[in-house]
Amino acid sequence: MALVVQKYGGTSVGSVERIQAVAKRISRAVQQGDSLVVVVSAMGKTTDSLVKLANEISNNPSSREMDMLLSTGEQVTIALLSMALQAIGRPAISLTGAQVGIVTEAEHSRARILQVCTDRIERHLNKGEVVVVAGFQGVSDSEDLEITTLGRGGSDTSAVALAASLKADRCEIYTDVPGILTTDPRLVPTAQLMSEITADEMLELASLGAKVLHPRAVEIARNYGMPLVVLSSWSDRPGTRVVSRLPQPRSLQGMEIAKAVDGVEVDRDQAKIALLRVPDCPGVAASLFGEISTQNIDVDLIIQSIHEGNTNDIAFTVVNRVLKAASAVAEAIAPSLRTHPSLTSEAEVIIDRQIAKVAISGAGMIGRPGIAAKMFKTLADARINIQMISTSEVKVSCVIDESECDRALHLLSLAFDVDLDSQKEITSRQEPKNHPPVRGVALDTNQARIAIRHVPDTPGMAAQIFTLLAQRNISVDAIIQSQRCHIINDQPTRDIAFTVAQADAELACAVITELDRQINCGQVSGDKAIAKLSVVGAGMIGHPGVAAKFFASLAKENINIQMITTSEIKISCVIDETDGIKALQAVHEAFGLGGSEQIIIPA
Ligand code: ASP
Ligand code: MG
Repeated sequence: MALVVQKYGGTSVGSVERIQAVAKRISRAVQQGDSLVVVVSAMGKTTDSLVKLANEISNNPSSREMDMLLSTGEQVTIALLSMALQAIGRPAISLTGAQVGIVTEAEHSRARILQVCTDRIERHLNKGEVVVVAGFQGVSDSEDLEITTLGRGGSDTSAVALAASLKADRCEIYTDVPGILTTDPRLVPTAQLMSEITADEMLELASLGAKVLHPRAVEIARNYGMPLVVLSSWSDRPGTRVVSRLPQPRSLQGMEIAKAVDGVEVDRDQAKIALLRVPDCPGVAASLFGEISTQNIDVDLIIQSIHEGNTNDIAFTVVNRVLKAASAVAEAIAPSLRTHPSLTSEAEVIIDRQIAKVAISGAGMIGRPGIAAKMFKTLADARINIQMISTSEVKVSCVIDESECDRALHLLSLAFDVDLDSQKEITSRQEPKNHPPVRGVALDTNQARIAIRHVPDTPGMAAQIFTLLAQRNISVDAIIQSQRCHIINDQPTRDIAFTVAQADAELACAVITELDRQINCGQVSGDKAIAKLSVVGAGMIGHPGVAAKFFASLAKENINIQMITTSEIKISCVIDETDGIKALQAVHEAFGLGGSEQIIIPA
């Protein structure tokens, strides 16, 4: 007999008929001997309608009253589903988040779960009842016992938090698509269902806007090693399994606030190769990394920041062992890039062995401004200069001087309270077994890019910039600082670019412009007409040629890459927004992710 937490999303419980169908499905599982806790969303588009109602009354409703309002949606569903179960002879009871004891911080509209009391649920389960719990809501840990909500889409998070607290055997997320797909089927008709994905991969994809799972739900599943399955409530197909490695044991207290960062890593075995002043046109990254991959050389970080006039710089890191071979390729290809007609000045190759990569990682940094800033500040306070920056949704990597490596590691582990023993120094790169190099592709068109040119190349600049943004509660997505160095008034400078949600672009630009007046860098510019295209796959570790293939598929479509940033399991390119869908389709095809099965998505 297994203990299973099932979650049904809005469309799965969108009508009386759907609720009855769900009741039958639950009943079958109980008949087979499983104990069931069921978490539900509000029916259909109820939450949206409630938001609309509120906006008709006020254009700035208080977040406390919004939580009071929105939490009613789920309360309707739990009562109806319990009635439906009882009507077919299955004992069931509905409970609100507060009745269960889903205790959250007192932050309205985006509360994080602190802990889930399980006594009451266990009592009902022991009596053979199905326990139906309202998703998306909790109760504050303050004296007032306020009703809180977890943020839109938060029922997934309720379900996984319950499953982890109850030490359930698995958590099943029922939705209106058959599982997790290789990309958005509305944009790419050949998108296919995956049978399995790792939690790390899913975390990157979920934060990139693959809407089937709330990123915070994936984070909890990963942290507690909870097996997750995403499947359709319309069929009996097995769906997609989200698998996690067996995690370190971790307390259930402070579940979602424990740590934003749970890993600090250094990698000394890195060398940097930079190509300066290569033409800013389609095909350059493709030919460079294409050539490198034919030599079977695995590259680690790849960073390309904003262009300058009609040229750009591309920098990448490799392990020392292959530096010679990689730099030979770079030297050999440089002249051919030089002859490009769009080029006015000469390309140049720089090689630096004396570098190390330090990185912080943790799913808790998603949507929490200030984590990258804290890393930069920690390094700045120790007068450690950051040469390059690359970020993914769950990781910030900085290239620094090798001689600073030990200090950086020590200080970062103190700053983020990460246990020294659990820190990893990457000595051997283990190739994950049987992982496809690319599992999925995602397009994010909701981002804007802000670029700051000619930022003084001294410790503390990145810290200042990103602390200011964090103070204004602006979540920064990709941060990119590449190789380019300009000497302005005898002062070396670098460019820093980052992306934010379009809604935050104006504010971010204003904040940076203000700072610019004080530190006097070159210029600040914003661009909303961009898209970020990312490929994700745990198998790309130790698998040369993934970046080359990605860039080549863009070059073939004559799409210019404006910026590049990478992590171990993800490569992202910033491109022109108008190229977005074409690029997504081309890359999905290039990695052979397409198939012929038509995925039906309800309107
Ligand atoms: N009903 C809430 C929403 O629409 C929570 C959820 O469905 O996950 O965002
Ligand atoms: Mg959802």
